[in-house]
Amino acid sequence: MALTDDQWIAEARRQLAATGSWDIPVTPAAVRPPDAATEAPLPCPNCGRELEIFRRYEVLATEPLRWCPGCFGFWARGDALSAGVADPADDREALFAAEVPARCRSCDKGRLDAAGVCRGCGWTRPALACPSCGAPMGRDTVKGVELDACATCRATWFDIGELGRTYGLARPQSLAAAIVDETAGPTDQDLMLTAARVLLGMFLRLPF
Ligand SMILES: [Zn+2]
Ligand SMILES: [Zn+2]
Ligand SMILES: [Zn+2]
Repeated sequence: MALTDDQWIAEARRQLAATGSWDIPVTPAAVRPPDAATEAPLPCPNCGRELEIFRRYEVLATEPLRWCPGCFGFWARGDALSAGVADPADDREALFAAEVPARCRSCDKGRLDAAGVCRGCGWTRPALACPSCGAPMGRDTVKGVELDACATCRATWFDIGELGRTYGLARPQSLAAAIVDETAGPTDQDLMLTAARVLLGMFLRLPF
């Protein structure tokens, strides 16, 4: 299967990061771009909106990472997170959104605790349905964070903010700051001073 240039570069970087070396040609077996067209739309288990593929550049996996643009939840099935969560410069808001306790659907006032129980009326949220197979999801602890998961589909649902907490995501440095850091060093000033000295020397040597 042919790789695009972007996929080839990303695969080479992935190999380099994982093993410290890389082979030519890059083995394409592990890289199967997600084919969203062949799969029925998956519903958000939280708000019902259609999940979308969270586009990434550097990170390649056989499964795409999906997200809900409505409630900022993430759906990671199979190896979707095996090579990382997002590109290093990715500053999309959904990755860094703060966790928000879910609102009670019974009294509509109270907030649910970590176990899904309303602090106001005691209503317990039923298990979320797996977006992929529809079965009620169980609970699973990933890196110390309790999450909804479907064992059958090998998939995990992250409510808003949970992906960031689980993987310790930090907002990347802004592009403007990065440019300033790279170009505004003393090196440029030194070059300008050198150029000025050369010009001054030429000027002083002019025969008046
Ligand atoms: Zn949603
Ligand atoms: Zn309630
Ligand atoms: Zn499932």
